[in-house]
Amino acid sequence: MKSLEKASYNAAFSHIYVEKEIIDHPNTIEILSRFPKAVKIEISRYNEIFSRSNQSFIIQKKSPALILAKKYGKFLFEGAPVCQDFGNEHFYYTTCVMNCIYDCEYCFLQGMYDSANIVVFVNLEDYFAEIEKLLAIHPMYLSISYDTDLLSLEQKLGFAQKWCRFTKAHSDLTIEIRTKSANNKAIEVLTPSKNIILAWTLSSETVQEAYEHKTPPLMQRLSCIKKALEKGFQVRICFDPILYSKDWLSSFEEMVEKTFTEIPATKIHDASIGVFRISRDYLKRMRKNRTDSVIVHYPYEYDNGVYHYGSHLSHLMTSSACDILKKYIPDEKIFVWN
Ligand code: SF4
Repeated sequence: MKSLEKASYNAAFSHIYVEKEIIDHPNTIEILSRFPKAVKIEISRYNEIFSRSNQSFIIQKKSPALILAKKYGKFLFEGAPVCQDFGNEHFYYTTCVMNCIYDCEYCFLQGMYDSANIVVFVNLEDYFAEIEKLLAIHPMYLSISYDTDLLSLEQKLGFAQKWCRFTKAHSDLTIEIRTKSANNKAIEVLTPSKNIILAWTLSSETVQEAYEHKTPPLMQRLSCIKKALEKGFQVRICFDPILYSKDWLSSFEEMVEKTFTEIPATKIHDASIGVFRISRDYLKRMRKNRTDSVIVHYPYEYDNGVYHYGSHLSHLMTSSACDILKKYIPDEKIFVWN
């Protein structure tokens, strides 16, 4: 049945939509050269495809198209209250890619967008110009893999390399590239720098298998982290979101033990802990999209626009997780979201 279902869908990126305006942009040419067999379709603006009505996020997830576009308007956004700023005063995020090749059941992107197609804004030079304007005023901490998983797409886009090159030339800029990938090839081509943080999200094997569809398993992520550390990268580990279940604590403890059996805790830049939380509007859409998901249909508590496990359970989970993590990582290197 599964193979029948598979056969009814095109492969991911079998179709690539390209805005006429950026058809000759060097990044467009580079990206298209990596998809020689894809059907290319010219469009005026990406919203024609991305924002059309009656789309199914879940169906598109099975075979997303790629949309190459030009970004206009605002390029940099101040960090939202539900995000961790890791003690950085000038914390921003940016979106040069919208959507992700993975399919985590708890992902906020399915609450944000009607489409699961992946939009790539190729005009990175405009992002860089905006960053330079802000850097003239103050230093900046920038999350660049916010609405996507940039490292998982590196062989197709090559954007992480471009961001790293730009960041190395700007010492007042620190970037975080967050990922669940195990993309060893990307690690091989990237060059480490003290202002580039590769941040891996880790989840217990139970959570990864049940809810993080299409992502690499824990052990593969750990092996990739090991490579990155050996190469000299600053590595952050994010135990976020931690999902509640009856046996979450034992699964979490087992994962942390495995993590620090595989990788040297002393080499970790820092770590973060956070339990699942999600904005009301996103959860509403997610519940419509995933009618059978126990994660999105959990009876969360609601406060100030955010659904969460309730302050008692959330505190209990973060403090228990923190106690386990403190066996390996010093307190001052652990950032907790409550
Ligand atoms: S890896 Fe992150 S961005 Fe991608 S689907 Fe999972 S939660 Fe969403």
